[in-house]
Amino acid sequence: MGNLHGRLRHRESAAESTSAPRHHQPQPPQQQQQQPSSFHRHVSGNGRVLGRPMEDVRSTYTFGRELGRGQFGVTYLVTHKTTGEKFACKSIATRKLVNKDDVEDVRREVQIMHHLTGHRNIVELKGAFEDRHSVNLVMELCAGGELFDRIIAKGHYSERAAADLCRQIVTVVHNCHSMGVMHRDLKPENFLLLSEDENSPLKATDFGLSVFFKPGDVFKDLVGSAYYVAPEVLKRNYGAEADIWSAGVILYILLSGVPPFWGENEQGIFDAVLRGHLDFASEPWPSISSSAKDLVKKMLRSDPKERLSAVEVLNHPWMREDGDAPDKPIDIAVLSRMKQFRAMNKLKKVALKVIAENLSEEEIVGLKEMFKSIDTDNSGTVTFEELKAGLPKLGTKLSESEVRQLMEAADVDGNGTIDYIEFITATMHMNRMEREDHLYTAFEYFDKDKSGYITMEELENALKKYNMGGEKTIKEIIAEVDTDHDGKINYEEFVAMMRKGSPDLGTTRRRR
Ligand code: ADP
Repeated sequence: MGNLHGRLRHRESAAESTSAPRHHQPQPPQQQQQQPSSFHRHVSGNGRVLGRPMEDVRSTYTFGRELGRGQFGVTYLVTHKTTGEKFACKSIATRKLVNKDDVEDVRREVQIMHHLTGHRNIVELKGAFEDRHSVNLVMELCAGGELFDRIIAKGHYSERAAADLCRQIVTVVHNCHSMGVMHRDLKPENFLLLSEDENSPLKATDFGLSVFFKPGDVFKDLVGSAYYVAPEVLKRNYGAEADIWSAGVILYILLSGVPPFWGENEQGIFDAVLRGHLDFASEPWPSISSSAKDLVKKMLRSDPKERLSAVEVLNHPWMREDGDAPDKPIDIAVLSRMKQFRAMNKLKKVALKVIAENLSEEEIVGLKEMFKSIDTDNSGTVTFEELKAGLPKLGTKLSESEVRQLMEAADVDGNGTIDYIEFITATMHMNRMEREDHLYTAFEYFDKDKSGYITMEELENALKKYNMGGEKTIKEIIAEVDTDHDGKINYEEFVAMMRKGSPDLGTTRRRR
């Protein structure tokens, strides 16, 4: 299949935004420096890359064999010293990050992984550590190897298997786009299989070239990998549609075993990409269904405006064939999170706010960008009008009363507008709640006398502070959360409440 590994990476200009210039930005509240959990040993000083206290990854994890090597880093198998759980740790030597752009790239990679983590098809980031020599990203271990190697081993896939893999890839694209992230380097090598299992889920692992974007932003960096690069990227004038092109190239390879745009060298490949001619005459294409070819063509349209969007790909009849894909457009992430937030009990809402206030800057930078794109007058608060105008911009249509309901739900303190921290509270990843240190911080916030229980009185005080209602609400909360019926809430009950119903946001909805 030739050498698919060639990667181009000429950074010449930063993204040029066509959206209105910003005069001032909403001031995020003072971020409290996050308390590291007790077993993280401190190395003095702040790291150059992540800008927070240095922490020795080796005091928590034992390093094992090398799993792979990339441009900047080496990935190792590591084992958690107390739990024995295995993870992958990408170690990036800070001395290799010579210029500002390199440092910025790594910082952004960490921010984007924090922003996207929690999706079924995106590798989960467990933690980021920086010490004097390296930045270490501890993530979920993908023991099944690269999709690339499986394709080579198999030659090509059945239509059904290709559809299944493609659906996972496009679900990642959809999730990235709805979260305001463009991937920019989609290729089989950047997808790993969670396990050796035949039906193992695919995980996107490498966000090293990804960027945050807002609708209308135009990018000019020539980045990506030759076989997968979209024509408008070569013309240095592109947006998120370029990811669909790359996914279309992957689909073509999955079905036929060869890349659609071929050349003896990089320039030859670029010429073929710009020509955009698709060969459906050679084997095995004549025996491939016309529906599959229809989808490939629509993903590989040269004009990005005419290309299908991620949602449209997921709704294409060929993608839906086995009845597993969603049959209506999936809500954008912000909206579905706000809706879930609306349904929560008030204790959970306040607890989320406590967690939001304690998140580190790098964990929420992506949501901050989303907030900024809705807060068009840069006042630091979002009004009903801004939310009504902003949600369609992010890709969703809502009735006036639905917007009103969301507004009321997200407006935790009830002052009629949504401030920055309220937006984070209502939209942050469900996944973040699972983190033990966050849950514990929130519990301690309520359990003022450190008795190990949240009493009725403590609950009342906390809710009063946030204007969250009186006796009736408290009774409702206790009835729902206090499963052992002792009239107070212990830590186990609290954790169970926080985890309950936190949906797997990444899974496409199943058709009945
Ligand atoms: P890049 O320089 O392209 O960013 P990476 O450092 O992301 O490369 O990955 C290098 C290799 O390390 C991968 O090809 C893969 O084999 C291995 N690897 C990366 N992440 C994981 C993971 N989560 N689980 C298992 N192996 C991994």
